[in-house]
Amino acid sequence: MTSKPAIKINAAKAKPKTRKLKTGNLATATQKNKTTVTPKNVESRQPAAAKKAAAKKPAKAAAKPTKPATKAAKKAVASKSAAPIKKRRRRPSVAPERVEQIFSRFAAIEPEPKGELEHTDAYTLLVAVVLSAQATDAGVNKATRGLFAAADTPEKMVALGEDKVRGLIKTIGLYRNKAKNVIALSQKLIDEYDGKVPEDSISLEGLPGVGRKTANVVLNVWFGKPTMAVDTHVFRIAHRLGFTNGKTPDDVERDLLQIVPEKYGVPAHHWLILHGRYLCKARKPECWRCPVNDLCPMKDKTPAPNK
Ligand code: SF4
Repeated sequence: MTSKPAIKINAAKAKPKTRKLKTGNLATATQKNKTTVTPKNVESRQPAAAKKAAAKKPAKAAAKPTKPATKAAKKAVASKSAAPIKKRRRRPSVAPERVEQIFSRFAAIEPEPKGELEHTDAYTLLVAVVLSAQATDAGVNKATRGLFAAADTPEKMVALGEDKVRGLIKTIGLYRNKAKNVIALSQKLIDEYDGKVPEDSISLEGLPGVGRKTANVVLNVWFGKPTMAVDTHVFRIAHRLGFTNGKTPDDVERDLLQIVPEKYGVPAHHWLILHGRYLCKARKPECWRCPVNDLCPMKDKTPAPNK
């Protein structure tokens, strides 16, 4: 049979191993303890020692995370716990009846308020709004008449080139940077939007020179969306009428969007702009002829000039 020699070879190889275990240091230890040490006993002792060590280690490891590892970490933990909890800004409470009365009076005076920037479509409106930053609408209109006669589409604007655009708008403040932005945004409209003005704020705000306020104006004026573009007038009027205590245009926008009744959502920002531009002026509001005087909480209202 062929299986017999194989068994013999295996047995011969196994023998020296068992002998080595019996005659080693462990064998001496067993003599002292007067116990018989077999390979089985050895195996059972080793895990016991390992278990003891392992039992100690996890305890240390578990304790570690509660203590900061370094001085810097200790400081960070200390400063975090000592830092004052930032209070969330709370919008002042505004009676909905008062808001309704204010906007209904604006609606009665000017049912269909319009912006004053001249434009013929979404693109010319977008360019006019970009140019209107830190400039008057009248000044922008003066410049855009010549500009739009030369180029009133993104393709024509890019073909016209930055130098010529700069020359046509040089009466407006920051004209160098604005010319650059007009060319860049026109190119982006061609490349990414098939030459059309997108109808959402994220895409609009991704265009060169277009911020949140510009996007809101385009969405409101051209696309008829109930956005609130917060310029200096809207910011001031919203505070004077007690609609907000926000420190930033974003805060004011959020507050106004919450309190303006839905039916006034589209024209509301025009009314606030017009009210601020012609009546509730920054330095000397003309309170004596204000249609919402009795609904305005501002102290120190301006008396009539002859009183
Ligand atoms: S009363 Fe005076 S401060 Fe108040 S909204 Fe009218 S103009 Fe502005």
